[in-house]
Amino acid sequence: MRCVGRLAELIAASAGALSRATGRGGGTSLPGMVLNRLEPGALARLGGGLGGGAVYISATNGKTTTARLLSACLRADGRVVTANAAGANLASGVTAALLARERSKRTQRDSGWTGRWRRGRTSGPSWLRRRGAANDHGHPESPRTTSGRAHRASRGTGADPGRPESRCGGIGVFEVDEAALAPIAGALQPRAVLLMNLFRDQLDRYGELETIAERWGELARSRSLGPATTLVLNADDPALARLGSLRNTEPMFQPYWPKGAPEAAEMDPLDPTARRPFLPPALERIGANPPNVVLFGIDDPAVGRPDLPHAADTVRCGNCGNPLSHDLVTVGHLGHWRCESCGLQRPRPHISARRVQLDGLDRLTLTIGGLDPTNGTDGTDRAGGTSGIDRPDGTSGTDRADRTDRTDGTDGTDGTDGAVEVDESARPHAIGEALDANGAGIEIEVTAALGGLHNAYNVTAAVAAAAALGVPPETIRAGIAGVQAAFGRAEQVSLEGRTLRLLLAKNPTGANENIRCLLDEPGPLNLLVVLNDRTADGRDPSWIWDVDYEPLWDRAGSVTLAGDRCWELALRFSYGGLDPARFEVRESLPEALDHAVAATPTGGVLYALPTYTALLDLRAELVGRGATHDFWHES
Ligand SMILES: [Zn+2]
Repeated sequence: MRCVGRLAELIAASAGALSRATGRGGGTSLPGMVLNRLEPGALARLGGGLGGGAVYISATNGKTTTARLLSACLRADGRVVTANAAGANLASGVTAALLARERSKRTQRDSGWTGRWRRGRTSGPSWLRRRGAANDHGHPESPRTTSGRAHRASRGTGADPGRPESRCGGIGVFEVDEAALAPIAGALQPRAVLLMNLFRDQLDRYGELETIAERWGELARSRSLGPATTLVLNADDPALARLGSLRNTEPMFQPYWPKGAPEAAEMDPLDPTARRPFLPPALERIGANPPNVVLFGIDDPAVGRPDLPHAADTVRCGNCGNPLSHDLVTVGHLGHWRCESCGLQRPRPHISARRVQLDGLDRLTLTIGGLDPTNGTDGTDRAGGTSGIDRPDGTSGTDRADRTDRTDGTDGTDGTDGAVEVDESARPHAIGEALDANGAGIEIEVTAALGGLHNAYNVTAAVAAAAALGVPPETIRAGIAGVQAAFGRAEQVSLEGRTLRLLLAKNPTGANENIRCLLDEPGPLNLLVVLNDRTADGRDPSWIWDVDYEPLWDRAGSVTLAGDRCWELALRFSYGGLDPARFEVRESLPEALDHAVAATPTGGVLYALPTYTALLDLRAELVGRGATHDFWHES
């Protein structure tokens, strides 16, 4: 079986190399597609080697950016992260990333001095050798060694004998397509699932939002999420906030649910068949209750808008079907929601952005509250998935004895380790060091090189997930600060003396957020809008009628329209009130780019708003002109 797996891997990797060599793509999905076909259990087999488990990130908007943010936090914490390439977010992309990791590991093991050293020094089965040679993170001791390292090393490993690599191999951070989440989680049980938003997107492909929300609800109820899987949910999205209550263990925010609601009836903590409530201490300390749900949201009333935009999606109560009321609207239908009819309302988030400062396309600063100052300071293995991140000073505000954080399902014996010293010098910078209303959590100020309120959500989501995975607040802050925008997300490219900004706009909410950011930019706005309707874009381009383009007219300098459906855009812009004399339509993208660049003054900025495949076309054109590199060269 092992030989069959190796052969399948070889064939799959060759297919990817061939794809790259022949210029047919980055080979980011094809090897996984081939391998999954040849060996249906490949995802589970390769993913089983991730000692820190897999984290899945899903949303309509923000998956790629949030995956980068979370990966950066984990890397800043010294963990080895395996991630899938942007856009390769189906099972094939996840498998391809795991395959690349496996082959890279094998190459390192089989060649070079390390391999020779290990072969010379150890004997027995290969997994034993690996286990002996690798440290907690599966790589040589990182420079971030803390005073807790010695303690960490001396602590029981708790490794599952059935999974010899569970102490090494790092952690997987995978952005996952909304529709692919349940099958992937079914194949490889996640350590954490981060769900951020559900907006209308590609109606022809997915059907209504409710379909996805229902699938995610089934996932939350299913055994695909183990008792130690953490659900990190956006409290501001009514379709997602309720998912936490669907988990088949003790209810988490039952007080928020009306008596008699179906969810409340299903949750019987006295049910002997119910699983034992399980709460990793890292969650307990940020105020989360069983069953392992961490909620995040935005709590700054200054960033709200008075009413729902045209593009708002989930505007009805998931419990009784009546319209929701909003005290605060942030992005699309997200905000502080409540149902006047049945009393269902936004649960209070554990981790929230209490102050949001937006500064153009490239910067935002958030004051995020609810973080645990003791995360990561007790010297436990946070990457191995078997950590017991305990509150050394016992100030969690609860007295649960169940203080284990084990994804391998073993019972922890290190749960009440009160003898661990807190290294005061490692305490994070905190604003006021104030405890929140729950008596737990501090605030930190996080600055990201990203713009817009939608990115404020991405950052808050990444911070919540990183905190739930035990990353110390100060490390989170450093990790976030180092992240650059993903390709096509306000990416900057220099072209013929102009700066081109690429702002992926693939659905009404995303486009509206980009436009909101553009309106804060100085001067006349030179625009290149590119609309395609290929499979990856969704075949139905009617979503552009839900985008609020109109505020741009007063600010627009030059406007160039392009893409497979450029005339649909022309119709939309004309109906929206932009004089046809003020925009140009070019069916050929290279010609459109030439025109848009020429219409932008030298030294000026050209803002491009492409759909997904239009972004790929545009980047291919820019790569051809030597202005940028292929996106798969990004980490
Ligand atoms: Zn209701």
